[in-house]
Amino acid sequence: MAFLIGPMQKRIRGHKEATETNEILKIHCDEVAISLAIGSHTALPCVNVGDKVKIGDLIGKRDDRFYVPVFSSVSGEVVAIEKRMSAGLRPADHVIIKNDHADRKKEFSSISLESSKEEIINYMKEIGLIGQGGAGFPSYLKYSTDKCETLIINAIECEPYITADVRNIEENMEYFKDGVKLLLKASNAKKCLIGMKFIHANLITKLNELFKDEENIEVVACKDVYPMGWERTLVYTLLHKRYDKLPIEAGAIVSNATTAITLAKTSEKKCYQYERIVTVSGDNIAKPHNVICRIGTEIKDLIKACGGPKNDPAVIVMGGPMMGTCVTKDTVTITPISNAVNVFEPKEYQEYPCLRCGRCVEHCPSSLEPVTITEAYRFNDVDRLSTLHVNDCVECGMCTYICPSKIEVTEMIRRAKKVMALRKK
Ligand code: SF4
Ligand code: SF4
Repeated sequence: MAFLIGPMQKRIRGHKEATETNEILKIHCDEVAISLAIGSHTALPCVNVGDKVKIGDLIGKRDDRFYVPVFSSVSGEVVAIEKRMSAGLRPADHVIIKNDHADRKKEFSSISLESSKEEIINYMKEIGLIGQGGAGFPSYLKYSTDKCETLIINAIECEPYITADVRNIEENMEYFKDGVKLLLKASNAKKCLIGMKFIHANLITKLNELFKDEENIEVVACKDVYPMGWERTLVYTLLHKRYDKLPIEAGAIVSNATTAITLAKTSEKKCYQYERIVTVSGDNIAKPHNVICRIGTEIKDLIKACGGPKNDPAVIVMGGPMMGTCVTKDTVTITPISNAVNVFEPKEYQEYPCLRCGRCVEHCPSSLEPVTITEAYRFNDVDRLSTLHVNDCVECGMCTYICPSKIEVTEMIRRAKKVMALRKK
């Protein structure tokens, strides 16, 4: 993949003030619907209706060569296994568990800073740790390498409105410190760089104090531009290196800040990660907050806890406004990688013909030609599409954001990807 940097970044308004300082709400629910969709795969259920489960009991696992377990986030009874729309917008089995609120837990093993690289990686596998920045890649696979020179902790959180990572760090400084040190040991890297936007000056000061005795861990203040949190941009910014497919080609492993906190917390509590912090924000939510909820909580419960939409109708986006996905049902549930639910006013834009201004090309962080891809897609020119590296698009949303003609460029590129996928079949 070609990769340039510079004009492809843009300062966009963060809208983070709505949730970056207020209290974190904690909500409880009587029933959870735990999605068995894991990234592009779906796990097979391993419980039956009527089974009694504890927090941390195995309820599903992938049946391919990768071991990725799905655990129960409540204690109670399995009351149904049914197909529902998952947060990734595809239908998948969900295990519905009635919560008995007893919070009985299965005890897991734990690790410490004295544990070896292999022990930490085995522990990641045991607890089913996946990257919590959005990709959901199994952590034990990412760390099973001896080629890592630099561990990068991604605390950039560049999407507008989302503050879950930053708030999670502020509330869990010691877990963050232990988690970073555990990940550093698992990576076998010589050093660790924690990337955070310079706008969080107070938190950067606190982190510098927290890590002052750790010679090989450094906090790096990064520019407040989008998409600084994208792995390629961050690796280039911190290491001045480019890569083709994976950061390890540049000698780096990149993990999200919340992944580090989850690792340390689950180990200390000897229990599976049964809850997560989610930002509930957007221009159409009455009381934006960060919310802690059980995995499998329906998003309508989070929206209700934040006062509901200010006006109807409302558009609900899982994730941020740039890369998130619009959901049509508020029964979609929270997964370990759901960092935000944003509620917006519907906006109608008049689309104008392409001006051929080239702004989408200038700003594409993947060095694609979005305007050419949309043209080829519109003319169903599959041969042309096959030469345009459509699959290098990371769906960052920048081309739509920047387009003066209000063309839904990113959406058309998504559809072009599907056309290419069908052609392969
Ligand atoms: S930014 Fe919009 S108007 Fe400009 S070239 Fe791209 S698609 Fe056309
Ligand atoms: S959505 Fe894809 S094509 Fe558009 S700017 Fe981002 S990476 Fe480039």
